[in-house]
Formats: sequence, structure tokens, C-alpha cells
Amino acid sequence: MVYGAIEAGGTKFVCAVGDEDFNLLAKASFPTTTPAETMQLVIEFFTQYKEDLQSIGVGSFGPIDIQRESKTYGFITATPKSAWQNFDFVGTLKKFFAVPIAWTTDVNAACYGEYILGYGSEYSNVVYYTVGTGIGGGAIQNGRFIEGFSHPEMGHMLVRRHQKDHFSGSCPFHQDCLEGLAAGPAIEKRTGKKGQEVAEKDPVWEIVASYIAQCAYNTTLMLSPDVIIFGGGVMKQTQLKMKVQEKFLELLNDYVSIPKIADYIVTPKLGDHAGITGCLALAKEVKQHSA
Ligand code: ADP
Ligand code: ZN
Repeated sequence: MVYGAIEAGGTKFVCAVGDEDFNLLAKASFPTTTPAETMQLVIEFFTQYKEDLQSIGVGSFGPIDIQRESKTYGFITATPKSAWQNFDFVGTLKKFFAVPIAWTTDVNAACYGEYILGYGSEYSNVVYYTVGTGIGGGAIQNGRFIEGFSHPEMGHMLVRRHQKDHFSGSCPFHQDCLEGLAAGPAIEKRTGKKGQEVAEKDPVWEIVASYIAQCAYNTTLMLSPDVIIFGGGVMKQTQLKMKVQEKFLELLNDYVSIPKIADYIVTPKLGDHAGITGCLALAKEVKQHSA
């Protein structure tokens, strides 16, 4: 008996099978190219476990359609990755695997992973942001994802400009949104280097931290969660977390009393495994609900 997990990112797909305690039994990773190519590899991976496969949990890059009554439920919708626009992800899986499928955003899945096994496991209200190629956010309240007509798009919240920042932003949709100013590509365009190659002391980190701190501030005032987790490649600059905590406290100015800062603004306990673990946990949950 195994559960399946697909972390479908814009750069790579991670597929895994695991047991009911979320131990990974096998894992494979494929580059995100075209649906035809990438999904072929996904299908080959799970076909090896077809006899034992109970369900599949998918956390996908988006935007995606999560409305069950919609004709395009289970589709990736308006993504800038043109080959994936209007791709029927869940429908494609269903053609090959007659098992229940959980379907949510990649960042919701990571939030769920932390909620079940990581820093969120002691709490009921958890927010997770990924700061990587883009910025995405997901929120769980009492075990359920916060959503309305669609999933949240918190990564595109507007932020106030840092005085020393003259970069025009890299989001094609908005001026001065968080993703356009603080995600990996914005760092690369300002410095001419990939985030991982930018020195720890570079002034760009003050600028990036000021935007992420505003994100934590807005999140705190809107949702009062128990914990805010920042993951993704950019947060691998370990000095960023403390800068964000400091700038967040300045912005908050003691207006609300928050939990201890070191336990409130954190990086994922599960590290890079938050997403795939969350997908596995969602697979187990969807199987239980369908039983
Ligand atoms: P993705 O968002 O594509 O799923 P990641 O979360 O790894 O994947 O984010 C990739 C982005 O993070 C790239 O822009 C990359 O330059 C940046 N990045 C990766 N590692 C680091 C690092 N150590 N420091 C700063 N930026 C990093
Ligand atoms: Zn934007």
C-alpha cells in the first residue's frame, strides 16, 4: 500500500511514493518541459507502483482551477508557461490511474507538509510563503486551506518601495508587487548574478528583506496566524531570516503582541521536503475521505 505525491514546480517535477507515516519509498525528479514529455515520465514513474497505489496528491505551480464544479477543475490555467496553459492535469492522471487525486497549489502543499510534520504541527493556523523563481503563499486555518473563488495569490501583494531601490520590478502584471521586487529573478536583474552567487553582505539583501518583512507584516495583520514560514531558494541566504525578523518588528511597532519572534517568522523545518511531504499527506487524506 503506497501513496503517490507529485510536486509540480515550474522548473522541475518531483514524484514520490511513500507509506502512511510519510516515509518516502522512492523518488524521482524530471525537468518541467512540455506536458507531453513531462507527464509521460510521471506516468511511467507511478506505473511501477500501480498495483499498490492508493491515491495521488498533487501540488502544482499555477494558477490552477480548484473549483470542483468548474468544467476546468484540475487544469493549470493562465500560467505564463505557454505549453502548460489550460492543461488538464488531474484528467490526464485519471486516464492512467483510477485512484482519488488531491489537487492544490505547490505552496499550499508545502504549507500542509509543515502543518502536518514541520513547524506548523503544533498549531492550527499556519501561513507558508515560497520565495524562489516566483513568490507564492498558502494558508491553513484549522486544517483547511483558506480559499474563496480561487486559491490565494499572496505573492503579488503590493509593497512600499525601499528608498534605495530603483529596480523597475519583474512582474509583467503589476508594478511594485512582492514577487516582482523580491523573487529570484528580481535579485538577478539587480545584481547581474544568481541569488546563490550574491555575497552575504551585498546591499540587495537589505532591500529584499524589507519587502519580505512587509509581507510578514501584512500577513500578521490580516490573518494573525500562529506561525509564518518562509521557504524557497532565496531563503537559503541564511542571514535573510534575521533581517526580516528585525524589519518586521520595526514595522509592527508593538501594535499587536505576537508570539516570540524566533518561533513566529521561521524557515521550513522540513527544508526542501515540505512540498513533497505535503503532497503525500494530502494523498493520504483524500484516500481516507473517499473510503
Ligand atoms: P522554484 O521557485 O523554481 O521552484 P527555488 O525555490 O529553488 O525553485 O527557487 C529558485 C530561485 O532561488 C532562483 O532564482 C535562484 O537563483 C534562487 N536561489 C537558489 N538558491 C539560492 C541561494 N542559496 N541564495 C539565494 N537565492 C537562491
Ligand atoms: Zn505581480
